[in-house]
Amino acid sequence: MARYTGADCKRCRREKTKLFLKGSKCDSPKCPMESRPYPPGQHGRGRAKESEYLLQKREKQKAARIYGVLEKQFRGYYEEASRKHGKTGENLLRILESRLDNVVYRAGFAKSRDMARQVVRHGHIVVNGNKVDIPSFRVSPNDVIEVRKSSLELTPFQVAYSEIGERTVPGWLEVIPAGMRILVHSLPAREAIDTQVQEQLIVELYSK
Ligand code: SF4
Repeated sequence: MARYTGADCKRCRREKTKLFLKGSKCDSPKCPMESRPYPPGQHGRGRAKESEYLLQKREKQKAARIYGVLEKQFRGYYEEASRKHGKTGENLLRILESRLDNVVYRAGFAKSRDMARQVVRHGHIVVNGNKVDIPSFRVSPNDVIEVRKSSLELTPFQVAYSEIGERTVPGWLEVIPAGMRILVHSLPAREAIDTQVQEQLIVELYSK
């Protein structure tokens, strides 16, 4: 499956904001955004004021980069969101949040969404009793997600287990330490989605 393979930190610098793509490095002084909070390249610091279109495009790029989704799939999510009842921007964020890799990350079972994607792809995650190795799989209310029993002893999960309670888990999910389970109580309302994305700009971009 196609995915972005460029340098993660450059993505943050390009968007001029922390996208938290590298786990613990993001909260440390090693984060390049601490010392170079401007776009990479020769003209990074001297760019002219951005047009409305560019701001909208950047916002779409930012959302796609945060959730690790490529353009074609992102567009598909937007089209799906626009067909649903309610506000398109909120629907779009809800779709992105319901991806299995995002849920594994939000629950604290992986330090970044990239790592969560890997965890899912390697077959460590079970949904309602069935192994699911597709990061874009979408969870639904009442789903039970758990770490495969044979994977519980692996170091990343041991570390994640020891850190349960330290990380804030959104209210629409519940983490049960025994068996490392995640209960999906509902899909999130906009106010429950902790993201820097201004979804309205994305809607404006795609509805031109
Ligand atoms: Fe972005 Fe994290 Fe790299 Fe900082 S360390 S630039 S937040 S990916």
